Amino acid sequence: MLTTGPVEAYPQVLAALGRPMQYDYLPAYQDYYAGVVARLRRVLRMDDDPVIMQGEAILGIEAAAAALIGDGDVVLNIVSGVYGKGFETWARRHGREVVEIAVPFDEVVDPQAVRAALRQRPDISIVSICHHDTPSGTINPVEEIGAIVAEHGAYLIVDAVSSFGGMDIFPHSCAAAVFVTSPSKCLGSAPGLSLVAVSERGWRKIEANPAAPRASFLSLADWRGASRPGAAFPVTPSIAEIHALDAALDLHEAEGAENVWARHAATAAATRRGLLDLGYELWPRRPEWCSPTATVFRVPEGCDATELRNRLVREHNILISLGRGATAGKVLRVGHMGPAARPENATKFLAALESVLSRQGV
Ligand SMILES: *Cc1c(COP(=O)(O)O)cnc(C)c1O
Repeated sequence: MLTTGPVEAYPQVLAALGRPMQYDYLPAYQDYYAGVVARLRRVLRMDDDPVIMQGEAILGIEAAAAALIGDGDVVLNIVSGVYGKGFETWARRHGREVVEIAVPFDEVVDPQAVRAALRQRPDISIVSICHHDTPSGTINPVEEIGAIVAEHGAYLIVDAVSSFGGMDIFPHSCAAAVFVTSPSKCLGSAPGLSLVAVSERGWRKIEANPAAPRASFLSLADWRGASRPGAAFPVTPSIAEIHALDAALDLHEAEGAENVWARHAATAAATRRGLLDLGYELWPRRPEWCSPTATVFRVPEGCDATELRNRLVREHNILISLGRGATAGKVLRVGHMGPAARPENATKFLAALESVLSRQGV
């Protein structure tokens, strides 16, 4: 599975999914859960406890919008791809107005454009951005943008679902009010949870927002402090998925974040180099915009993306991802996430691609 998520999970993660069920009302489970949250806090390099929500990462992103955006807020939605554009729906639902900065989906956003938008509209109070828009394979300069947003005094929502863990990105480094990631991309765990980092200032804004969901499956606030001794869980925790996350975080810490990033970067670099040498065209218009966690390339003239994907599976047992939304049919995507981020996978993939296409006369 060289997919862009969900990804092949580490064997230790699969084993952890088979650990015995536990009864969450017992102090022993609460201690265990608090330990997983503390480990996640270390991996996210946070001072405060993150929140684990029980649904795939879109839940965390929708919950962030619902919690942070009040009916007086003007949201600047930054769009460089399918996920960035998708945030608009939630921003419109909760906010007063949505302002957009958009670039073509094979480009990234210029921080100076964000600065200019904030100058033009001093009433912008929330900014949202997707760090790695996976259908495009591009990385936005979110640290620089975060510093500009902080200077302006707005709150930043960051979708780092398919970048966190696979490269050097953290909630504090982009000054995020809410930072959302997933276990089922670069951490190599199972889908089903949202990992949400909220800053102290972000929590204050949420507490002051009367429209922020409470007593709801969409509520971030309900999960705040769920891991504290004696606290009750809002609902039964997803026992198996928490076990899987525990194993994935254990592996990440044991290998060391920097080593994990290096493995992702080396795999992406080898894949890019090989594709370029063979005459393929990358989707991102500049090499420095390319993600270290997924490589997106244009489907050669005269080829059908789905047919090519299917032949790679049938003939070589290699599964890659198709484009999505605006990139559907135009690109193919190779994930370098979690256990798939190994340079030898680049060689295997390139050899398979060449074999399939040369037999087709391309
Ligand atoms: C995978 C992903 C998500 C989560 O989306 P799902 O459809 O739940 O998998 C959100 N944002 C980005 C950038 C992603 O790659």
